[in-house]
Amino acid sequence: MVDGPVLIVGCGVFGLSTALALIKQGHYVHIIDKYEPPSPWSAANDFNKIIRCEYNDPIYLDMSIEALKLWRNDPLFNRSYNECGRILITPLRHKGRIEFEQQGIKLLQDKGEGKRFEVSRGRESITEKFSFLSRNTIPFDQEVKFNPESGLGRSGQTLIDVYSFLASHPKVRFTFGDAGYAVGVQRYTDGQVGVITKSGFVHSASTVLVSSGANTGSILDLQNQQSATGLFVTHIQLTESEFLKYRDIPVLFDAEMGYFFPPDEGSKIMKICLSGIRSSRIVPDPFDSEREASLPRFHNEYPQDTIPENCVSSLKALLQKYTPELANHQFFGSKICWIGDREGSHFLIDKVPGYGNLYVATGDSGHAYKFFPVIGNYIVQMIDGSLDDKIAFFWKWKPRNAPDIVDASAASWRVSKLGTIDIEKIVFLKEFGVSKL
Ligand SMILES: Cc1cc2nc3c(=O)[nH]c(=O)nc-3n(C[C@H](O)[C@H](O)[C@H](O)COP(=O)(O)OP(=O)(O)OC[C@H]3O[C@@H](n4cnc5c(N)ncnc54)[C@H](O)[C@@H]3O)c2cc1C
Repeated sequence: MVDGPVLIVGCGVFGLSTALALIKQGHYVHIIDKYEPPSPWSAANDFNKIIRCEYNDPIYLDMSIEALKLWRNDPLFNRSYNECGRILITPLRHKGRIEFEQQGIKLLQDKGEGKRFEVSRGRESITEKFSFLSRNTIPFDQEVKFNPESGLGRSGQTLIDVYSFLASHPKVRFTFGDAGYAVGVQRYTDGQVGVITKSGFVHSASTVLVSSGANTGSILDLQNQQSATGLFVTHIQLTESEFLKYRDIPVLFDAEMGYFFPPDEGSKIMKICLSGIRSSRIVPDPFDSEREASLPRFHNEYPQDTIPENCVSSLKALLQKYTPELANHQFFGSKICWIGDREGSHFLIDKVPGYGNLYVATGDSGHAYKFFPVIGNYIVQMIDGSLDDKIAFFWKWKPRNAPDIVDASAASWRVSKLGTIDIEKIVFLKEFGVSKL
């Protein structure tokens, strides 16, 4: 039961969304983070993320439908939402991915949603509808799906919008810098918990929630339930005429090659993401020297962690396949970006065993941004003990007694050509000149 003030560690999607839910119930909230939002450590601190409702799991499907309504209608969220649609290119031969996509669409349509989905095949099937794809080279038998009822959220902007709203609320307090940088938790004899910070100050409250994303495992012993996974992002600069041509395009998602977004309105920068390769950073587990863990090494502290040099050709191939006129643009602002992967891509949202007032919300598994408007309500329900049993079952604390780290590349629906590679084995692209980001 939420009783008295709540301390939240981490101003990412889970932390800020929980604060929103708590103030609606009249609670006092103190949120701490090393950085003021948008934190360079937040996986959501980026131009944009995909918002879609196709899920092959009813829990996330229902929650994404609920969230989409708020992305469209809630003034706090709709200003960073763009319902530009999403083109989904299905790999020709990947049983797991093909089934995953089919199930997701079926489940969505069974709910009476996704009625405007269009499915076609091959190059010519889409050139008329999408002029920016007029020179695409999609094979004649490759499936192309289009869902106009999805789009993108300007994710860094959402962090700023929600933070600004909370910062003006009389019941919310923020602490940043070393006094907000959690380095561990302290258990008192009565089982209550304090959060130890880099400055030496220990914060406490009636209820404590740790929601520090990929880095949660460096604060709390997660018993091998989460691994930090690095994903790769880069950008190209569009000219004025290219910007006008591409500004209204849908997100184009090719599960095998990568995906790109319409350009940012202000800077005319287009964000491109790699698929098929992920990174780990294996270190001794800070809580058990016998065990290994994967923990992040953030790009703002390690700017040389860009994208793998050997993936530049794949990114060029992606652009060559869909928008050849952009294939020779120089990549810049490349970066690794860390998520917290959990088995089955299920979030970890539960009470931490052995403590009286400690809760955790992490394990985003790379798909939690879209739930920003609603996930906090579920986290508060978990603390109150009123979370639906079916959901609580998947999100519950379950020590993982496996010797290896969680490797999301192994999921049957993930198209993973290169798998998960340790950061020490990656040769990173060297970027010269001043980044425009
Ligand atoms: C490349 C990429 C693409 C993605 N695409 C999508 C997408 O298309 N759709 C989608 O829905 N999701 C997407 N995601 C996932 C989404 O961004 C994450 O699921 C979401 O940001 C997770 O929220 P979080 O609150 O768990 O963690 P984060 O947003 O990472 O926030 C964690 C916060 O904790 C703070 N913190 C960390 N350590 C400490 C500490 N020791 N002390 C104090 N504070 C600390 C950080 O500063 C940060 O503010 C993507 C992620 C990446 C990296």
